[in-house]
Amino acid sequence: MSKDGLVIVYTGNGKGKTTAALGMALRAIGYEHKVCMLQFIKGSWHYGEMDSSKKLEPYLELIAIGKGFVGILDDNSPREEHEKYAAEALKICSEKILSEEYNIVILDEVNYAINLGLIDVKEIVKLINEKPIALDLVLTGNHAKEEIIELADLVTEMKEIKHPFKSGIKAKKGIDF
Ligand code: ATP
Ligand code: MG
Repeated sequence: MSKDGLVIVYTGNGKGKTTAALGMALRAIGYEHKVCMLQFIKGSWHYGEMDSSKKLEPYLELIAIGKGFVGILDDNSPREEHEKYAAEALKICSEKILSEEYNIVILDEVNYAINLGLIDVKEIVKLINEKPIALDLVLTGNHAKEEIIELADLVTEMKEIKHPFKSGIKAKKGIDF
């Protein structure tokens, strides 16, 4: 078996990007591999996995980062405030990736932070290039940048065929959050 870790990207407009990453984490934890999921927060929702991680300790560590991105589209915090959070978030990503403590690191919704212009894609490219050789690195979020896709070993585009939201069905606990 290869010792080289993969760069894995889940992108696209359909549902399943974050849950695919969590599914992979669950599989890896079966072998007592250690997983760190860093979530770039998109809103004020509470997601079930934030509590699952406590139940899967010490194998799954989940850290919400970039909390300043919450409500970025409608809040009144100055741009500098968000940039400060982004810089902090990037520092945590770098520490976790380089720590060699994990088999898998997941940067959940990192593409979102990049597309908001809060994180420079070059910084993520740098992290991908610097990561420990054996580490599997997962990046999620729609509209993955070409630079990241080029470096990735595995890219899956979730494509929406149908989503219950479109027929007025509200987000479901345990399925959507
Ligand atoms: P999930 O976390 O369920 O795997 P995701 O990571 O692919 O979804 P995100 O863009 O991160 O998708 O959106 C997260 C939230 O939006 C979830 O509650 C998810 O169910 C919902 N969602 C995802 N895709 C769609 C869609 N195409 N239409 C409406 N809601 C969606
Ligand atoms: Mg997601």
